[in-house]
Amino acid sequence: MEKSCEQALEIGLPAIAFTDHADFVKVNPGQYCVDIVGYLDSVERCRSKFKSLRIHSGVELGEPHWFVEETRLVLSAGKLDHVLGSVHCVRQGDRIIDASQLTKSPDVNPAAFAHAFFTETLAMIDGGQPFQTLAHIDYPKRYWPGYREQDFEEQLRAILVAAVKRELVLEVNTTRGNVLCPSQTVLGWWRELGGAAVSFGSDAHDPARIAAGFEQASEVVEAAGFKPAAEPTALWRR
Ligand SMILES: [Zn+2]
Repeated sequence: MEKSCEQALEIGLPAIAFTDHADFVKVNPGQYCVDIVGYLDSVERCRSKFKSLRIHSGVELGEPHWFVEETRLVLSAGKLDHVLGSVHCVRQGDRIIDASQLTKSPDVNPAAFAHAFFTETLAMIDGGQPFQTLAHIDYPKRYWPGYREQDFEEQLRAILVAAVKRELVLEVNTTRGNVLCPSQTVLGWWRELGGAAVSFGSDAHDPARIAAGFEQASEVVEAAGFKPAAEPTALWRR
């Protein structure tokens, strides 16, 4: 966290948010559940060390609607500025499959996976767990080169409508500068359906990748009709 703060200052960011993973499913080695108490200590340590940087706390809940009690425990540990809800996995029979396994699992049909993923995302939003931001709405696209959002427009629009109803923020995830989730088209649907706010995440996982792809992403978000809101929210609004 300290290295990330140093890097943020180095590249001239006024603020940074750390939204560590709270993944309760364990199907791949990348999944990780934050030690929330230790995390909050690190945030406080960094806030006193880097006084010129605004440091926001947060967490990315994975499948919180499957893990209501675990979610409650994480959120009750202390104040978090940003709580993201995300889906990475779907259930197929008694198997849980993470999107990152798509490329290595020839037995999994990527279109069926994506369909199940969007169904699960809608269930997460309708499940009412207390998160404010919907993370990487079209996550399967990172792992499925054949992904086309037009093929899932109906499901994506249903998700966006549910997110508007809950007044969620839509995260624009730059995947460390590699893939923009979602695209300008989906951001246009978000605006059209009444979506009010957008946030940026680089999913950095590494100090060197902080804010990677933000310049390009902000052009796309602006073209979709959103403008930067005043600090300290760091959101872009319609
Ligand atoms: Zn995620």
